[in-house]
Amino acid sequence: MAPAADAAKCAAALGVETLKLTFMGTAGARFMVAKQVAASGGLFLEDGNVKLALDPGPGAIVQYAQRKVDLTTLDAIVLSHRHLDHTGDVNVMLEAMTDGGFQHRGQLFCPSDALDDDPVVLEYVRRFPREIVRLAPETTYSVDGLSFTTSGRHVHQSETYGFRFGEKLGWVTDSGYYDGIAEQHRAGVMIIHTVLRDCIPHLPHLCIADAERIVREAKPRIAFLTHYGMTVWRANPADVAAGMSQRTGIDVRAAADGLSIEL
Ligand SMILES: [Zn+2]
Repeated sequence: MAPAADAAKCAAALGVETLKLTFMGTAGARFMVAKQVAASGGLFLEDGNVKLALDPGPGAIVQYAQRKVDLTTLDAIVLSHRHLDHTGDVNVMLEAMTDGGFQHRGQLFCPSDALDDDPVVLEYVRRFPREIVRLAPETTYSVDGLSFTTSGRHVHQSETYGFRFGEKLGWVTDSGYYDGIAEQHRAGVMIIHTVLRDCIPHLPHLCIADAERIVREAKPRIAFLTHYGMTVWRANPADVAAGMSQRTGIDVRAAADGLSIEL
């Protein structure tokens, strides 16, 4: 048996579940998503039997199907914000989670503006899940024992939150850099949405220098860059991550479509 499988089995025997994260896509922003240069299915988080789909963007349903994930066992869908690259497949995912709407189960967590004016969650789909929770800043939620905490409201065009899953995982979603962003997402493993190669004032997205600043301040054990915009993609994410590792002395890696990690 491989050492990793051995460790997971051992942890399960001790009642300590390992958190498993799979990148169902690494594309960020319009052009990468429109051309499907990389997939845009968001993140899949598994904690024992508890399963969460995070930011199911366009094509998420295809990514889950290709990896033979039974979506009727999904416990919740979490949206960081309403932009299309994060929510494109939320309706079909809600339908899949509830077995076509026939099983009243699962939860949806999302900012209020995903539900109100010009909603991204269709009205007729809203009666399918057991509960729809409107996210608030700096609040802790629990899905069958898997708890997560929202950050303060991000600097972004719509209501946006980042997340921390205990000490294990910090997920820095779309945002411009702000004081406290590193602290609010500090965890052993951090995922950082790095959309821009060069910082562009007034464009509320993290650039490579911003991501590096977050890594320096939060000092995670490992940081993964993902949600690449076209300029980061062209700069080669693996090279960008390697440069950041060299400069910071912290293990920074480039996420890839389908990559699975155990935390
Ligand atoms: Zn966005």
